[in-house]
Amino acid sequence: MKKIGFIGLGNMGFYMAKNLLSNGYIINGYDINKEAFIKLKKFGINQKNSINDISNENDVIITMLPNGKIVKEVWTALLNKLKPGTLLVDCSTIEIEIAKNLQEMAERKNILSLDAPVSGGTIGAEKGTLTFMVGGNENAYNQMMPLFEIMGKKSILCGKSGSGQATKMCNNLVLAITMFGLGEAIKLANTQSLDMEKFYDVLSTSTASCWALNNYTPIKGVGPISPADNDFKPGFSSQLMFKDLSLALSAASNANLNLDFGNRILNKYKEHINLNKGHLDFSDIINEIH
Ligand code: NAD
Repeated sequence: MKKIGFIGLGNMGFYMAKNLLSNGYIINGYDINKEAFIKLKKFGINQKNSINDISNENDVIITMLPNGKIVKEVWTALLNKLKPGTLLVDCSTIEIEIAKNLQEMAERKNILSLDAPVSGGTIGAEKGTLTFMVGGNENAYNQMMPLFEIMGKKSILCGKSGSGQATKMCNNLVLAITMFGLGEAIKLANTQSLDMEKFYDVLSTSTASCWALNNYTPIKGVGPISPADNDFKPGFSSQLMFKDLSLALSAASNANLNLDFGNRILNKYKEHINLNKGHLDFSDIINEIH
């Protein structure tokens, strides 16, 4: 499997494609934003100008797009053109039902497919340490394994189609809640004039230790480099977190389950977006705690 089509070269797709290029794969890339190619050209990406241009020449096609509506448009266009046997893998975070429907469409055309959303953020994408949560059949998963191993440190076949997305929305529900809880603790620490380096040192090795604190500390100059050190430039935008929370809450509602914290945190992100901050990193939610 040598030729890869990569559609969506944004904050995540850029690094994922770069890591594949660095490992000798030929990448035919497409993004509606032509600027996405500026930095990737020097790593040897082939820039394609439309979905049609990359449809038929690749062994595998990866999509890393903002939302389910866009993935549906792109996959529908692709599925009308791909040769049977091509492997089509969506790494975006989207609705479970859309993922399932698209994989059913793919199967009818003898196209292998997977939903494989990721965790680890742009840092994980850059370092090739993402976790892939995969839904689909074992044959497709095994074929994709060499590429998962380049882009990530772990991949898990969670179950049948849609299972990757179902797992991912649970993960991000936890992340949204922990980031907000961490923000509250940091704001409280500030009122007590605590030394934030020492605060970080203690909490990151105590029971408050969590990914949001240890890897994505929302305090400028404290902990590892994170969006807080870069004026909250994403990273993972607040509007994408709002989308992921909405997916989780809609799935819960369909299952007659009331997620109290989830609903409250969704409203916090809605307020953040209404303040025209949706383009900022989701960890900027700390600045809405007063
Ligand atoms: P992004 O907005 O930075 O990148 C998306 C890219 O898709 C952009 O470059 C955009 O121009 C391109 N695009 C949009 N419509 C297109 C189309 N029709 N055809 C081709 N290209 C198109 O988003 P991101 O942060 O890279 O996230 C991508 C996906 O990964 C999302 O579903 C997100 O929820 C998920 N995700 C993101 C992170 C993160 O930390 N950023 C972490 C895990 C999962």
